[in-house]
Amino acid sequence: MTWRATILTLFPEMFPGPLGLSLAGDALEAGRWVLEARQIREHGIGRHRRVDDTPAGGGPGMVMRADVVAAALDAASPAEEARPRLLMSPRGKPLTQGRVRELAAGPGVVVVCGRFEGIDERVIAARSLEEVSIGDYVLSGGEIAALAVLDACIRLLPGVMGAEDSEAEESFEAGLLEYPHYTRPREWEGRTIPDVLLGGNHAAIARWRRSEAERITRERRPDLFGPGRKS
Ligand code: SAM
Repeated sequence: MTWRATILTLFPEMFPGPLGLSLAGDALEAGRWVLEARQIREHGIGRHRRVDDTPAGGGPGMVMRADVVAAALDAASPAEEARPRLLMSPRGKPLTQGRVRELAAGPGVVVVCGRFEGIDERVIAARSLEEVSIGDYVLSGGEIAALAVLDACIRLLPGVMGAEDSEAEESFEAGLLEYPHYTRPREWEGRTIPDVLLGGNHAAIARWRRSEAERITRERRPDLFGPGRKS
């Protein structure tokens, strides 16, 4: 079954964007995933295809209309849709590698990209949208967030990554950040590669990597470390 991504956006020309290159681009060309970027404005109101209006209660900015977003969603994804419907939102649950793994293992995703102040709350409830954040900062629109979600999922699809086992050792996969990497030259600007990596003792290398991964995780992300950590 091909993994399918449907993106609802006011800027469909932003897709595939960077996902048309490198691993994701090759996989798209090979048909390992399918992308459909749909223009929300096609469901806009009136001659000007209006998609937004002023916030109820006043305040700055504009809000994307529930009826417009719902019409775009209903046209793109049937009621019995098996794919999760995500809404990119700084208010959402922060995306984790665990959730990415689940999404990549499923049939694909439907992603709504907000603009302006966001979308009318009622459509979030009415269409069971899962709000997903890619971090505690505010982007100008959901498209770059959607690209990040897709990129993280696509590289996990079968046959997409070159070295199949590189995934197992990556940051977050074992609840740890990854150990440091080195390559040639052996000495660069007076800095050397740790001796253990050059000795050919694979058990010692594995021990060193594990302890470095633990040290870095403890120092940089204590929230990931130890019992009760988030996956
Ligand atoms: N008024 C909103 C707030 O304060 O939470 C911010 C709206 S933002 C300017 C416009 C859109 O960008 C959002 O509707 C969302 O789709 C997207 N967006 C912004 N930051 C995001 C983040 N950290 N993660 C996911 N999507 C984000």
